[in-house]
Amino acid sequence: MIRRAYLSIGTNIGNRCDNLQRALQLLVKNPAIQLTAVSPLYQTEPVGPVKQRSFYNLGLALNTSLTALELLDWCHVVEQSLHRRRLIHWGPRTIDLDIIFYQHQVIELPRLVVPHPEAANRRFVIQPLLDVSQDDPQTQRQLELMLKQTRDTNWVHRLDDQGVTI
Ligand code: ATP
Ligand code: CA
Ligand code: CA
Repeated sequence: MIRRAYLSIGTNIGNRCDNLQRALQLLVKNPAIQLTAVSPLYQTEPVGPVKQRSFYNLGLALNTSLTALELLDWCHVVEQSLHRRRLIHWGPRTIDLDIIFYQHQVIELPRLVVPHPEAANRRFVIQPLLDVSQDDPQTQRQLELMLKQTRDTNWVHRLDDQGVTI
């Protein structure tokens, strides 16, 4: 069975465009994943207490025959290939791939919670996913509500307006 999933990717170490490109290339090396949409590139203000460089973020829509846990495992393979080290919680990272939605399912496992519990508190997650879910009215409505209700005031800038793409 093919299912729709939405991912959020972010990076704030090294060459951020390069990191996103490499993550996308690795992600689609799995033949069970078909990328259906990639958002414009966003530059975003770091959320949380750690002072750090701005992030580059993307939202992705994909169709997949992987289960949610298989998709999580594959996201970790991609992160590890880009030498992500988990040093400071919520600190700088070469790449972070989070599963935000998986086929309108609610999943509460020790290592996977979907919808991602912090999504509603993060404009950098909501905005790019609005761009890639236009063929999915239920997800659009959910994201629009999140955007209306979020208390996140951190800035989120579309970079393709300035000619920057990945
Ligand atoms: P946050 O979850 O607040 O965005 P983070 O992305 O920095 O924080 P990580 O260190 O990347 O946190 O991940 C910690 C663990 O979160 C992962 O090993 C994974 O098992 C778990 N996890 C739970 N739900 C999800 C999800 N929806 N997407 C990705 N990882 C998840
Ligand atoms: Ca994250
Ligand atoms: Ca993560």
